[in-house]
Amino acid sequence: MIAKAGCARYGPRAKGHTHIPAMNQNETSTHFGFRDVPLRDKQRMVDEVFHSVAGRYDLMNDLMSAGLHRAWKDALVSKLRPPLSERAFHALDVAGGTGDVAFRIVDAGGENVAVTVADINGDMLGVGRDRAASLGHANAVRFVEANAEALPFPDRRFDAVTIAFGIRNVPRIPVALLEMFRVLKTGGRFFCLEFSQVDVPGLDAVYDAYSFRAIPEIGRLVTGDRDSYQYLVESIRKFPERDAFSRLMRDAGFSRVEATPMTGGIVALHSGWRL
Ligand code: SAM
Repeated sequence: MIAKAGCARYGPRAKGHTHIPAMNQNETSTHFGFRDVPLRDKQRMVDEVFHSVAGRYDLMNDLMSAGLHRAWKDALVSKLRPPLSERAFHALDVAGGTGDVAFRIVDAGGENVAVTVADINGDMLGVGRDRAASLGHANAVRFVEANAEALPFPDRRFDAVTIAFGIRNVPRIPVALLEMFRVLKTGGRFFCLEFSQVDVPGLDAVYDAYSFRAIPEIGRLVTGDRDSYQYLVESIRKFPERDAFSRLMRDAGFSRVEATPMTGGIVALHSGWRL
């Protein structure tokens, strides 16, 4: 079942959140990779990227990361610790695409663990729905077409909220953080897995060379679309550093914010609680 995005009733303003962190107030431009673009154009450009790569997205993830994305997602889910008991537990995976994190949460938890995948791109969700059916997860995982900046869910709906490799694509990150905070239950935890800054001398140069030379070329060979992978690589470099992102999370309301770098800082797992 697909619910459409933009349910006005549940937008950030509907529940009285008036505090939008200063960083993006009145902003009219942003970046799309290394290019400055009007804020209103970014989402369309991002959507074109994921429309173009959806069919080969999972294969490309394995190729680009040499399978490491699996270990990073496993680390997220082991920190999330979905209950193994019969307790009902409902997680939201924002920008969940083809369902990778959602399937892991369901696999790791008990029989009453369910996940809603929310993503703005119907093509990515279509791949996810097919995967859910073939993995036998169609009942536990539902797919909803929705914008992270205006989640069509009531306040305090979910026991946990996750986002993996999604937030850097969202035009107004502080707005999405407020939304993810809004739909999280009091006592619930938020996790954000995202590319970060390499902090191991030597690895940074190798990583740069691999990212800028190899990844767009692998993208061209596998998907026929070099530009989309050039964007993905550039967008990683434009994402806020760990401390800055932790501050954005605190501004959105999260408490006990932590950032855990993994694989020499190639990625980081941020977490925070709604208390
Ligand atoms: N989370 C998945 C994973 O780790 O494999 C997919 C990550 S993929 C790199 C980024 C996803 O973010 C895409 O599926 C894209 O459609 C989604 N996305 C981009 N902007 C979004 C927005 N404003 N709201 C919801 N999803 C968005």
